Amino acid sequence: MLEQGVTNRGAPGFRPAPRLSEINQRFVDKNQVSKTEGSSLARAGTSLRDRLLQQNIETTPDAELRKTLQKAYLGERLSAAEGLLLLNRADLLTLGGLATRAKERFHPEHAVTYLLDRNINYTNVCRIGCDFCAFYRREGESDAYVLKNEVIFEKIAETIAAGGTGVLMQGGVNPKLKIDYYEDLFQGIKSRFDIHLHALSVIEVEGIARVSRLSLDETLERLKAAGLDSIPGAGAEILVDEIRLDQSPVKRHSHRWIDVMKIAHAHDLPTTATMMFGALEKPEHIIDHICKIRDAQDETSGFYAFIMWTFQGENTELLEKHPDLKETSAVDYLKVVAVSRLMMDNIPNIQGSWVTMGPKVGQTSLHFGANDMGSIMMEENVVSAAGTSHELGRNGMINLIRRAGFRPLQRDAYYNILQRHELSEPTETAH
Ligand code: SF4
Repeated sequence: MLEQGVTNRGAPGFRPAPRLSEINQRFVDKNQVSKTEGSSLARAGTSLRDRLLQQNIETTPDAELRKTLQKAYLGERLSAAEGLLLLNRADLLTLGGLATRAKERFHPEHAVTYLLDRNINYTNVCRIGCDFCAFYRREGESDAYVLKNEVIFEKIAETIAAGGTGVLMQGGVNPKLKIDYYEDLFQGIKSRFDIHLHALSVIEVEGIARVSRLSLDETLERLKAAGLDSIPGAGAEILVDEIRLDQSPVKRHSHRWIDVMKIAHAHDLPTTATMMFGALEKPEHIIDHICKIRDAQDETSGFYAFIMWTFQGENTELLEKHPDLKETSAVDYLKVVAVSRLMMDNIPNIQGSWVTMGPKVGQTSLHFGANDMGSIMMEENVVSAAGTSHELGRNGMINLIRRAGFRPLQRDAYYNILQRHELSEPTETAH
């Protein structure tokens, strides 16, 4: 519980979170303007890219694919069958061109954003035990931990000193940690720091409710009152039960992830949505996942970004069970990014994953529909536990965006622009 008389509103420089509708509306407005600018293939767009795209589409021999490409070009909503057709049969560069057009409806300014924040994994104890996870430990294992609050405060102070504006705080589903622990921690953070708290996940929120014997409504309301600003979409993996329950039998059915997100949105807690793929699913499962999130977004408008990454296998039970499982190729990753941008016509931001795919593929995703490079991440423990470790300082991030031909912009958690770097700006101000 919050200490009597102390709320997060007492934090220095406290800024109240914008309401959900305010976060997404500015992008939706741009999208509506852009959509009305062209209503046919002949009228829409005159750039060289658009002319080449039109030519590619018009000369596509497969009539069904041609019709779907035309719909995508015009920014019309694509059905699940049409999304699958694009994923399976469209060529890579046409998808990239179409996704870039779709991105420009939300983000016409030819710029790419990044965030400076830190991942803090407050505990690695987890009762769930997903096959694809190399991070978790069971209670009592020698390297199981729960970070002391003082250690977390120190990490946040370092983050702020380095110019960071947020923390992404996640852990396992630790059965020992009830809501009082989180209220004490969140209130402690907010009373000390002006920092955005993007924390927990659906499965953690469910775990807190369960051990605290609270409803989800009450749990979310109390977490929000203690300082929770937004919830990461982690733990969605693939929202198709035959995949999800096979990989994480203790996790609940797919609809639970959506249900909890809707409850969070009803409490005006914005969230991201995610997808982890490359772990035995089929293309139709990826499309099903995208459609489920798009449907939920039609109802709540609570997702402000869609973030996808690929399964990283080292040290996971899933790879032990399926040693022949191949890593997702860059081409397959980029196709999924592009089709996601084309189908997610109601989520403004799509993030490229340089953390799992590496900086070069992350950079390439900026030409396949991604408008954001995510976080520089001063600390990352989950993906690195699965054997993948890419590092990118602030200079590296800025240069990566520049070399892809975009203006780098530092943003905050809600995609407000904090700093505009010129294309030719020297990087001596960077950390
Ligand atoms: S992915 Fe999350 S829920 Fe699953 S085992 Fe790892 S920490 Fe636990």
